Amino acid sequence: DSGAKQGSEKVLRVGTNADFAPFEFQNVNGKEYEGFDMDLIRAVAKEMGYKAEIQNVNFDGLIPAMESGNLDVIISGMTINDERKQKVNFSDPYYKSGLTIIVKKDNKEINKFADLKGKKVAVQIGTTSAKECRKIEGIEVKEFNSSADTFLELKAGGVDAVVNDRPVNDYYIKKSGVTDVRALDDLLTSEDYGIAMSKKDAEMQKKVNEALKKLHENGEYDKIFAKWFGT
Ligand code: GLN
Repeated sequence: DSGAKQGSEKVLRVGTNADFAPFEFQNVNGKEYEGFDMDLIRAVAKEMGYKAEIQNVNFDGLIPAMESGNLDVIISGMTINDERKQKVNFSDPYYKSGLTIIVKKDNKEINKFADLKGKKVAVQIGTTSAKECRKIEGIEVKEFNSSADTFLELKAGGVDAVVNDRPVNDYYIKKSGVTDVRALDDLLTSEDYGIAMSKKDAEMQKKVNEALKKLHENGEYDKIFAKWFGT
């Protein structure tokens, strides 16, 4: 059985990398975990009769933390792919994403992914961005622990571009207050986010999918979606 008992409520140990707004981030006081994923996993946990307890872990440490038994689920804008499926089970997809590029506004050379050839690009370590960028010939990929660090590197002029998930790039353009950057329209991939769970707990996958289905049926998913992505 997953989740330690705490009082009468079962605890769902949730791993995330809380530096990926609007999916997961810590609010201005640096305490509360907020975002689309955070609202969704709290609703899923509640539906399952658990209380979600969020743990902030480096993105590339999430699956290892689950493999060593320290997490029950991962929700972290994590793309479902075959490589990860060998290590974890995924829920049904809950969000459709893809990769885009951010450059400085005065950069007229980079307008699509093919233009990254021979350029320096910042990506977050262990992500699909890192994997996809390495396929581009002659690119220099610089890896960082968080997507915030990739944006800082672009600002500092250490790279020509940042590659990251589209909704996170869009949110950065809208909310960061940085005015000298733009996101390009070119979308490299089509990726589905899923909630990851241990392969040792097949029951968990069933319960999470049932909860997700319920949240779609009762309108809760749409409410959470509108809160973070509505206009
Ligand atoms: N969706 C991307 C991936 O799964 C990035 C996730 C993230 O940085 N939190 O690799």
